[in-house]
Amino acid sequence: SVPAAITSGLSAGARRGLLIKGGAALEAMGGVKTVAFDKTGTLTAGHPQVTNLVPFGIGTAELLRLAAAVEQGSGHPLARAIVDHAKAEGAVDLPTVTDGAALPGQGVHAVVEGQTVLIGSPRYAQEQGALQDEAAQRAALLEEQGNTVVVLMRAGQTLGLIALRDEPRADARQGIMDLKALGVTPVMLTGDNARTGTAIAADLGLDVRAELLPADKLRLIGDLKAAGTVAMIGDGINDAPALAAADVGVAMGGATDVALETASAALLRAEVRGVAELVELSRATMNNIR
Ligand code: ADP
Ligand code: MG
Repeated sequence: SVPAAITSGLSAGARRGLLIKGGAALEAMGGVKTVAFDKTGTLTAGHPQVTNLVPFGIGTAELLRLAAAVEQGSGHPLARAIVDHAKAEGAVDLPTVTDGAALPGQGVHAVVEGQTVLIGSPRYAQEQGALQDEAAQRAALLEEQGNTVVVLMRAGQTLGLIALRDEPRADARQGIMDLKALGVTPVMLTGDNARTGTAIAADLGLDVRAELLPADKLRLIGDLKAAGTVAMIGDGINDAPALAAADVGVAMGGATDVALETASAALLRAEVRGVAELVELSRATMNNIR
């Protein structure tokens, strides 16, 4: 019977770490046309490492100390990487900050030692009028190599650049190939800048839409849905709304509680290949019914 076939499909998935919340999600996954992936923590491991510090007019240690001070209050993977790096470099007593605030997809700011210090994407820095020629060129070079670059600013001046690298998951390339072999179109959505996004996407073999704010991701999911069934894969940091907006939202790896709540499926193993496995499981289950 249909319910029995669905139930056995759901439990076959569960045995392989593919948790699906119900028959509707299981069925939709087989007909998926586009799979949109969040980059950070989904296609990449989500544990960026600091690779370069480029100070302007201050010392390297001061750049790191100020950046870590502002990032202390942020749970963003880039923030954690900067704070961890500062501590590893011996910056134990970070200055206390007040009035910290985050701008999702852009950066954070706080008052440090009486002055507002900002850290965020090069685009955010440009909007603040702070990214001058030399800094912009250095940032572009680092980005072309697949680094994410964040800019530390104070009083409209760039104090330095911090480059970070977040390695693709070991099976990301294979997981993308598996989806293409099933006739599914993968696309990467990222708030990261276009140069970094393009470098990583080219390496993994999929298209990319970069420099997206959380609201842009949401709008894009809507556009993609007009062309067919869309699955969104993410860990939910800033992106829970996109998971909810897709036909099937899939939480992956160390997903946040919000993501797990919002998603209609979850991959217990942090493996990109699990997405293609979901598609195959769905198609096999539906074939049993027909
Ligand atoms: P992703 O789509 O890769 O998950 P986000 O939307 O979380 O990226 O962030 C997009 C960009 O905004 C980051 O690449 C970074 O430049 C900037 N940004 C966001 N949060 C922070 C932060 N806490 N510190 C510095 N930069 C940040
Ligand atoms: Mg994110």
